[in-house]
Amino acid sequence: MSRRKLYEGKAKIIYEGPEPGTVIQHFKDDATAFNAQKKDVIEGKGVINNRISEFLMLRLGEMKVPTHFIKALNMREQLVKAVEIIPLEVIIRNVAAGSICKRLGLEEGQSLPRPLIEYCYKNDALGDPLVGEEHIFAFEWATPQEMDEIYSMAMRCNDILSGIFAGIGLKLIDFKLEFGRLYEGDEMRVVLADEISPDSCRLWDRETQKRLDKDRFRHDMGEVAESYQEVARRLSVLP
Ligand code: UDP
Repeated sequence: MSRRKLYEGKAKIIYEGPEPGTVIQHFKDDATAFNAQKKDVIEGKGVINNRISEFLMLRLGEMKVPTHFIKALNMREQLVKAVEIIPLEVIIRNVAAGSICKRLGLEEGQSLPRPLIEYCYKNDALGDPLVGEEHIFAFEWATPQEMDEIYSMAMRCNDILSGIFAGIGLKLIDFKLEFGRLYEGDEMRVVLADEISPDSCRLWDRETQKRLDKDRFRHDMGEVAESYQEVARRLSVLP
């Protein structure tokens, strides 16, 4: 099939879609960590993340969170609305883990007093640095009105996703969202874009605290593919 590749990232390829205003997201098995210094292939990850992300985007959509998702195309691909990605990684944290522990000297697993939102400027060459709203507004990465919408959508996603994962015995420790501008005629609105999967979430089993996410890859903990499968199985998205 000849179709135009618009962009290739670390875990996904974006192809031109069948109609204007659409693109195809293709999920690869490639995994990277630590700003792509660590690379490997996790067999079957693309298939699983495609299904998990589809499921979660649909659930969020039902709860009135606008998303880019249109429909699944095949095991590795989904049709989504073409958006202009806002160059921010929006991180929501319920429990301390990863970079915030190093930065603030927190214990991994420590509950946070309330969900925290952090913003990183999406720039691989700079290693996605943490930024504040001052930077976001000064450099015009997003407007104050867009940031208000992003903040409330992110908090809403946190409530919904935390509930979904609690229902399958998992704790949503933290996760990363990306948003995009969707242009419809003269109107522009901000919608949830990219993916939501064990690549972009930390998920711990509520009973055993076992990590079922990309930290298994980051820290060579083994059973990486099996853990992604476990999340998919608990969500009942894998046959
Ligand atoms: N995350 C992500 N992509 C990134 C950076 C972070 O999906 O480029 C996710 C990560 O999987 C975790 C959350 O965002 O669920 C918070 O990550 P953190 O800032 O702790 O960074 P890390 O420790 O992963 O470097």
